[in-house]
Amino acid sequence: MIDYQKVLSEITTDCALSVQKGVVATYIPELANVDIDKLGIHLIDSDKNTYSSGDATETFSVQSISKVLTLAQAFGMLGADIWKRVGVEPSGDPFNHLSLLEQENGIPRNPLINAGALVVADILVSQLKNPKQDFLNFVRTLTGDHTINFDHAVANSEERTGFRNYATAYLLKSFGNLENDVTTVLDFYFHQCAIAMSCKQLTQAFYPFMNQGKCLQNRTHLTQQQTKRINSIMLTCGFYDEAGEFAFEVGLPGKSGVGGGIVALLPGKYCVATWAPGLNAKGNSKLGMEVLEKLTTKTGQSIF
Ligand code: GLU
Repeated sequence: MIDYQKVLSEITTDCALSVQKGVVATYIPELANVDIDKLGIHLIDSDKNTYSSGDATETFSVQSISKVLTLAQAFGMLGADIWKRVGVEPSGDPFNHLSLLEQENGIPRNPLINAGALVVADILVSQLKNPKQDFLNFVRTLTGDHTINFDHAVANSEERTGFRNYATAYLLKSFGNLENDVTTVLDFYFHQCAIAMSCKQLTQAFYPFMNQGKCLQNRTHLTQQQTKRINSIMLTCGFYDEAGEFAFEVGLPGKSGVGGGIVALLPGKYCVATWAPGLNAKGNSKLGMEVLEKLTTKTGQSIF
């Protein structure tokens, strides 16, 4: 039997010594204030045993990790109709690029790049009565933790500086792939990204994705089919133009965020989350990727 606690402790001790920590995201000014030395990892296995090391219970900005959760909620509501408005192919482009969207007539390549996440946000704004609160409640229910909240300072910070997201939303609107006002959709999107969660809470929220749709409290949130589809999108699109590298190095479906978090899962076995705020050139957590590469290498467990 694998001693996950020993493995996690060894890996964080090892990685904490690294001098190459990447750089903290500064294009959202509020994120620039985060301490680059933070490093946390939390793992929950299918028997609900938990293992932690480092700053695993400290909250941080989940940013793009939230895109998987909005997708889950929208997919649950709309079913396969969602794929009429957003594709399922990797983009091979950075998360905020606009050129493909122009070439492909306003249908984003996938729901995990910004353009695709904005379409999903638009769907939720149309479907939900109180979109921001209802989405927050969905995340709280998935996680089984009602203390989870928005970090309004981060949302406001991006609201003031997220010019590329405004451009993307207007381009979607020009192609008729955004039903609601650009500012309403962006307000929702900036808030979903600004949810603050710890590694521990993220593993709880993503538990259904490794457990055929059932959360920690055994409630069904997604069908087995939906879980399969979302996990496949995470594997092929969860790391922007570094999705291939993550599959190659780590071998798990997962999703990163520019707050430095990464969630990954081994279906039927475990869900793991890491936090290290320094990013590599592709916008993914530098140490987070290294930690997860070591985890799957040392344990010999991956989807491959
Ligand atoms: N809110 C960020 C943005 O739209 C999310 C990016 C990310 O985490 O990759 O730019």
